[in-house]
Amino acid sequence: MSKTSTDGVPRHAPAPLRHSLNGETMGTRYSVVFYGPEDLRTECLARSLFAAVDRVDRQMSTWKVESDLNRLNSAPVGEWVAVPEELMTVLAEALRIGRLSNGAFDIGIGALVNAWGFGPECRHPDAARIAAASETPRATAADSLLLDRPGGRVRKFAPLSLDLSAIAKGFGVDEMARIMDEFRLNAWLIGIDGEMRARGVKPDGSFWAVAHERPDRHARDAMGVIELADMAVATSGNYRRWLETGNGIVSHTIEPSRGAPLVNGVASVSVITPTCMSADAWATALLVSGIERGLALARSAALEAIFVMEDGTVTSTL
Ligand code: ADP
Ligand code: MG
Repeated sequence: MSKTSTDGVPRHAPAPLRHSLNGETMGTRYSVVFYGPEDLRTECLARSLFAAVDRVDRQMSTWKVESDLNRLNSAPVGEWVAVPEELMTVLAEALRIGRLSNGAFDIGIGALVNAWGFGPECRHPDAARIAAASETPRATAADSLLLDRPGGRVRKFAPLSLDLSAIAKGFGVDEMARIMDEFRLNAWLIGIDGEMRARGVKPDGSFWAVAHERPDRHARDAMGVIELADMAVATSGNYRRWLETGNGIVSHTIEPSRGAPLVNGVASVSVITPTCMSADAWATALLVSGIERGLALARSAALEAIFVMEDGTVTSTL
């Protein structure tokens, strides 16, 4: 009888291997890092992930003429419009966070976003459009949109140009998370742009690390690290997308109560919540709310949030 050197030694499963995948969606990139078996066939996973984010993009983009959202935007006032389940989920969450933030988060700002040069229609602020879009009273999503969730349909009560750019990327991340779970992967970090979500920990037991970016318009630099396990993080700020005009810098975040780009001294807000859809929307809601109301709101909603002011001061609810 022969004996090999491994006899009697318990056989361990091979250490999981680090894989990564990435691609383009929603005018930016998505990325996935995960640990899984060495022989995992990643082509099928990659196809499923792309299909999931692409479905979100095709439903919710204002940049795609034929998206379900644009179909709703151009539908006549008062007419019921059938919407797919994913879009309904995002509209419901957007209205919920809009209500909780007293209108700081308002997906009804599409015409203002376009007028100020940040939408698909204009590349520069357009005075005539700005005047038209900020005429008061302005229709808000909270007052002018009715969801019939069981019936899968939506109805506008006023001309309304909806914009889901502050929540759809987060939902896209959650959709990718669903696919990762379906593939029974349990150690991953996924993201679209800077909106990220993690599951489990790395094989060495360490948490997933996400850079907390310094809100600097001219450089990409980390001011710290946010550690995640089974959580999502999203950051909103005005240091990546902004326009330089004759009258100074114009932010791509709209303050719905003024109908104009935000100026409130907050440079960025990061929010950590279980789902990336909520983190994404709350980051914009708290940014618009400003430091005082934003902190109070974050505390009352039991949110982990980090505020960075333009003068560099950092305040968090942690
Ligand atoms: P990014 O898209 O750069 O990650 P955000 O998640 O903060 O940043 O989303 C900003 C986008 O959200 C804007 O470009 C605009 O389309 C939309 N938006 C601007 N102001 C508001 C607001 N008050 N409520 C909801 N959406 C907004
Ligand atoms: Mg956002």
